[in-house]
Amino acid sequence: MHLPYLLLDIDGVLIPFPSADGTTPATHTRHDVIPTGRSADDPVAIWLNPAHGPMVMDVAHGSVVAPVWCTSWRQDATTLIGPLLGLPPIPYVDLPHPQITTSHPNGYLWKRDHIDTWLADAPVAWIDDDFTDLDQEWAAERDAGGIPTLLVQPDPYIGLLPEHLATVRKWATGKPFRDAATAATAKS
Ligand SMILES: [Mg+2]
Repeated sequence: MHLPYLLLDIDGVLIPFPSADGTTPATHTRHDVIPTGRSADDPVAIWLNPAHGPMVMDVAHGSVVAPVWCTSWRQDATTLIGPLLGLPPIPYVDLPHPQITTSHPNGYLWKRDHIDTWLADAPVAWIDDDFTDLDQEWAAERDAGGIPTLLVQPDPYIGLLPEHLATVRKWATGKPFRDAATAATAKS
């Protein structure tokens, strides 16, 4: 069985939504970044929790999941956001650029059709703050069809918590992923 991907969103997960009073959460550090295509004199303020980098790497090593960014930050996740958290270059899904005014243009997460194709039959734990009931149905059908699939949905105003990664770790433990990884290592 393929090693499971750990798909990671950023907005609403690593960067929680701003609070009503606009303050940065006490756990987070403010950064000014220049996303690709944006003028250097027009930075974007973001806030990141420095504990998130080690948390992500811990579950990646400990549970045999392969982290991949799945975010509208696209390559900037790999080159801009990840390094601010001390993360190595994690690959990203090159999501399309649909002309949409809602994240659920068809009642489910706009990323999902692309991800469904991208994953093919690979197992996945997917952390995003924006799933709908239709996404949960998609995941349940996939899982029932023999492709382990887990959706984890943080509160966008709080973002990623240790318990979310604990859920991923628990999900991956006891499945045959680790055996597959061991066998792959033994073969190489
Ligand atoms: Mg999001």
